[in-house]
Amino acid sequence: MTDFTYAMDADGVVTLTWDVKAKSMNVMSTEAFMDLSAKVDQALADPAAKGIIITSGKKDFAGGMDLKVIAAMRAGGAQAIFDGVMGMHNVLRKIELAGMDPKTKKGGKPIVAALPGTALGIGLELPLACHHIIAADNPKAKIGLPEILVGIFPGGGGTTRLTRKLGAMMAAPFLLEGKLSDPKAAKAGGLIDEVVAPEDLLVRAKEWVLSAKDADLVKPWDDKGYKMPGGAPYHPAGFMTFVGANAMVGGKTMGVYPAAKELLGAVYEGALVPFDTAIRIEARHFTSLLMNPSSTAMIRSLFINKEALEKGANRPKVADQTVKKVGIIGAGMMGAGIAYVSANAGIEVVLIDAAQEAADRGKAYSEGILDKGMARKKVTAEKKAEVLGRILATTDYTALAKCDLIVEAVFEDPKVKADVTAKVEAVVGPDCIFATNTSTLPISSLAKASKCPEQFIGIHFFSPVDKMMLVEIIRGKATGDTAVAKALDYVRQIRKTPIVVNDARFFYANRCIIPYINEGIRMVAEGVEPALVENAAKLVGMPLGPLQLVDETSIDLGVKIAKATRAAMGDAYPDGAVDEVLFWMADQGRIGKKANAGFYAYDAVGKRIGLWDGLEGRYPVSAAQPELATVQHRLLMAQVLEAVRALEEGVLTDIREGDVGAILGWGFAPWSGGPFGWLDIIGAARAVEICEGLTNAFGPRFEAPDLLRSMAEKGATFYGAAATKAA
Ligand code: NAD
Repeated sequence: MTDFTYAMDADGVVTLTWDVKAKSMNVMSTEAFMDLSAKVDQALADPAAKGIIITSGKKDFAGGMDLKVIAAMRAGGAQAIFDGVMGMHNVLRKIELAGMDPKTKKGGKPIVAALPGTALGIGLELPLACHHIIAADNPKAKIGLPEILVGIFPGGGGTTRLTRKLGAMMAAPFLLEGKLSDPKAAKAGGLIDEVVAPEDLLVRAKEWVLSAKDADLVKPWDDKGYKMPGGAPYHPAGFMTFVGANAMVGGKTMGVYPAAKELLGAVYEGALVPFDTAIRIEARHFTSLLMNPSSTAMIRSLFINKEALEKGANRPKVADQTVKKVGIIGAGMMGAGIAYVSANAGIEVVLIDAAQEAADRGKAYSEGILDKGMARKKVTAEKKAEVLGRILATTDYTALAKCDLIVEAVFEDPKVKADVTAKVEAVVGPDCIFATNTSTLPISSLAKASKCPEQFIGIHFFSPVDKMMLVEIIRGKATGDTAVAKALDYVRQIRKTPIVVNDARFFYANRCIIPYINEGIRMVAEGVEPALVENAAKLVGMPLGPLQLVDETSIDLGVKIAKATRAAMGDAYPDGAVDEVLFWMADQGRIGKKANAGFYAYDAVGKRIGLWDGLEGRYPVSAAQPELATVQHRLLMAQVLEAVRALEEGVLTDIREGDVGAILGWGFAPWSGGPFGWLDIIGAARAVEICEGLTNAFGPRFEAPDLLRSMAEKGATFYGAAATKAA
């Protein structure tokens, strides 16, 4: 079976139609590239063929390279990667030169890309090698090079061609941020050449092929006297761009993402040499990137495993549980967000609160988001009416009668939750699944209030619900498979990423986040410079330092959780030193961002203006400060060891969930692929060594779990050991 079909019409125009049979979206494989190459050769060699249209048999053009192919390429080592990438470049260059005479640049055959819809990654790099790009006016289509978002960069010539086409400055948002555009914006941004009505796409493509002149086929960079738009690096304007870009990328990525560095290297060095050398340079940087374990880890967690979890890798084998009508109890911050994402996904919503005004306020939250979408032209008036029309805001529990799922998001109080559970169960049908969004209360004990604990489950959202992509599903002791399947099907409907964990204190995400925050606070109490704590975290790829994070989640919540944990653990409670700081901060009224006062100082509009200088009066900074690496190891190990313990204890059952959940749930250093990814990068033996050093210096909380010790002895890795389960 071939992915490209070849058809020549009576006018000699060859159409190569890309249609990967087994998939709903075209993705490029090594075999497909060879197939494309052979068919381009055929058309170039056939005297009857006047030119080529490359298009798709699907509604979209292509989703990109099959990243599993990239993962497989690594197996052969650097030379195999480089040879493979150069093979691809040679095919694309053949398309670009299209058989023209190398000296006169005449006699080539015009090749046009006709894009019916989305064209991503290699799905845009291939068109960029063609002579002209026409897209159908399809506002849903996304065009761009999103590689950087999964830890690589456009390595199919996209980096070199786009920089030469647009100049480094204009190409930067597409290459460095993976910015995607609809066809009209792509035309305005210079990515593509024409946008036509969908029904005219192939007609116009043919017209272009038949009317193209020799000069239309010569790329600016193949023309004499080509100068890079905006200037090459040693041009005064180009110099400004390159110096600025380097600083900006360094500032944004803190130097931990190898893809951004390699990309900049390819752009800068490539800009100094002729095109064919630039392509080789791009291939070398791409090879060096693929050999970096960070890119392997990022692709594994952010693409392959994330997708596997979204497709239900751990879903029990029970019948489809698609949710038709969801009841949400509690229209506060969380309930309102859950109502919005549900209605937006086409699910009927009954949103209940104790008072009608509270329920209405919850519904108004959706209206606010939709209005913002309208202002940005992302949402139409019809869509807004449709989504709001799906939400019934009420105090009347009988409205829940036909719901097949309930999500409870009332106050974090077992009595209130038990009362709500009973009220709901009095009106819903026997198959309805009841989920609680509790963040701290054990699911198995809340389930005691239910008549059917096997239908009781935890669905833990993160705040803000509409932005955070992770949903943690918690199986109580009695939770049945149907409830798990229901929760997973619901999360799929609202297009978020699920992990399924077992019931234990703080489940998985909060279990790891709390020690991170606590370690930061502990260091402040010890006299470590707070700026060192915060910057050490950011320099290792955490999006927020622990002190900023606790300011955002609020210090009074931290106090509440600490008190409840201390009450539950008694003498075994290990965090007295942390509480002293937390409680003192709360006593000063510095409860975080919401009060415009916390570990940070804020201006009148709530903008952070720096660390609070009053902290030093109470916790003086020591004269001798620790090494950056020591601070980083403390902050990372505080989280990572919890993740390993969660796995050891069976709270986590799949390391893929541990890694994907950590990145999406609390932004754990994405460059590392997650806590287990990071441990695999440094190796279990090195991890145990770090733990021993930290234990000696700072106490038993850093003791290496048995699992890690035994892996160190055997030289095992998490993903190696789990090779059959994880990609
Ligand atoms: P919130 O105080 O903003 O909202 C709670 C809502 O529940 C209020 O509108 C209240 O009027 C309503 N309510 C209380 N008792 C009720 C009853 N008997 N019947 C109907 N409505 C009732 O709280 P929130 O931040 O939205 O948190 C709700 C739940 O979600 C809690 O269990 C919390 O632990 C959990 N949670 C919160 C977060 C977070 O970041 N805030 C994150 C994950 C989970």
